Amino acid sequence: MTDSLYFMLQIDCESTQASVNDPALGRRASEGFARCLEANRLLGTFYVIPTDIEAHADLYRDLRRRGHEVGVHVHPAVQGYGEFLGIYGPDEQREILGEATDRFVAAMGCHPTSVCVGYVSTNDHTYGVLESLGYRQGTNSIPGRVLPQCAAVHAGAPLELHYAHRHNRVLEGNMDFVESPVTVDPDSRMWGGANPQDLRIELVDAKNHYYTIRKAIQRQLDGRTPVKSIRSLTHNTFDYSESTNFRRQTLEAVIDHARRLAHEHQLELKSATVVDLASAYRRAVPLESRRENLALDRRAYERTQTS
Ligand SMILES: [Zn+2]
Repeated sequence: MTDSLYFMLQIDCESTQASVNDPALGRRASEGFARCLEANRLLGTFYVIPTDIEAHADLYRDLRRRGHEVGVHVHPAVQGYGEFLGIYGPDEQREILGEATDRFVAAMGCHPTSVCVGYVSTNDHTYGVLESLGYRQGTNSIPGRVLPQCAAVHAGAPLELHYAHRHNRVLEGNMDFVESPVTVDPDSRMWGGANPQDLRIELVDAKNHYYTIRKAIQRQLDGRTPVKSIRSLTHNTFDYSESTNFRRQTLEAVIDHARRLAHEHQLELKSATVVDLASAYRRAVPLESRRENLALDRRAYERTQTS
């Protein structure tokens, strides 16, 4: 039986942020991204901040009808708070995330189940708060990111899909929340060593992304990862409606690389939203089978007994 390689393409929609403030570009970018994916028989995951979803509710409702996943993206500054969610305690996080959720419901007419926190600025309270607000999956980690100045530290976090841990953001746990980390190459460091090279379309060119994808596939085959996947991201601040746009060309090349590399590894490439990924993971790894199993590794204390 041919194993599957799930392929998720995520776009964070935040064109109304003060630093961008170009909703017309955001609309063209989101629509262009969707069209580009649809031309390749793929579906996208759109994480949208409250002001973007209020500006373009018609577009995001239409994208959902077309099969794409639309979830919540959170940048607290957009809502009048500080820039980074990860500095807040549980009550303030619930207030910020709850407000973003309510505004999503008002614009979309349905409750979101997928969420992505901006900068992946989270702390050990965040997953519990997300669960209490009804979220079931999301993208809230870039494994290996060490950006304390953004309250975004994910050193040693799991590289692939996993159930979140209620009290520790870098551990696998047994919460009914499937974390879908951004695909990274943990050995290639950028930004003075603070961030791994990840599959963010705009970070590097398609040639560099080719090696990250190839390495991620091999790692998951070697590790017998139960649900193999490639998870890419971008932002709706690049004009994906324009076929000559460099980011659009990088996106198309990444899609092509993923398809070719899947074939070369005898894997069937399957389009997946974050909801599809979480469903596949829940099927392959029943939550009941997960045991918290952290124990002191005592192997280095052992001595060979000689008589
Ligand atoms: Zn963002």
